[in-house]
Amino acid sequence: LKFADVNFPKAMLKSCENFTKPTPIQSQCWPILTSGRDIIGIAQTGSGKTLAFSVPGLVHITDQLKNNPKKKGPIMLVVAPTRELAVQCAEVISEAGKSVNITSLCLYGGVPKHEQKRALKAGVQVVVATPGRLKDLVQEKCCSLANVTYTVLDEADRMLDDGFEKDIRLIMSECHVERQIAMFSATWPQSIQKLAHEFLVDPVKVTI
Ligand code: AMP
Repeated sequence: LKFADVNFPKAMLKSCENFTKPTPIQSQCWPILTSGRDIIGIAQTGSGKTLAFSVPGLVHITDQLKNNPKKKGPIMLVVAPTRELAVQCAEVISEAGKSVNITSLCLYGGVPKHEQKRALKAGVQVVVATPGRLKDLVQEKCCSLANVTYTVLDEADRMLDDGFEKDIRLIMSECHVERQIAMFSATWPQSIQKLAHEFLVDPVKVTI
């Protein structure tokens, strides 16, 4: 796949302008995610995974806002196991979203909530979060996931290992029923297969 092969608006690929070609995971994920299908990506960090799910996510947001410019709250949600991963991912999305005026917010635990609540109130199109803090803010009615139609579970195996399964279930149940899901995992154990089977609809499995 070449960058020119994907039908993304030019501004969407601003963060790729210094790259010569899409990475294998981008080549595989972009057409599938653009078509609206759910995906399971068995891939490691360093594969270019973040832009693999983020660029179609930004396109999805733009399409949603075209239909309903007043749509409130996050439309895209990324759940990641650690603060460090969430921050890294949020930086990539924030940079990629800049040229298309898409705003994002990173939510994680270990810091007071008031700043995060204020930012949520101001409105944001992308939320990147760790499971525990997101669950708290959802339960406190400070973060509505009702308009989330594009969800990414990043490093899903790690989130299950860290005991976040219950939080993930709650978070998924709060998202819009007609949501597209991209689930990434480094491994493919029974527990992940079960989660995928429960939440994803007819997913395409991609292994890098
Ligand atoms: P990630 O797996 O998302 O953490 O990305 C790993 C690294 O690959 C990051 O430093 C990205 O900037 C870089 N990267 C992402 N896409 C490409 C690409 N198409 N060509 C070269 N490098 C890339």
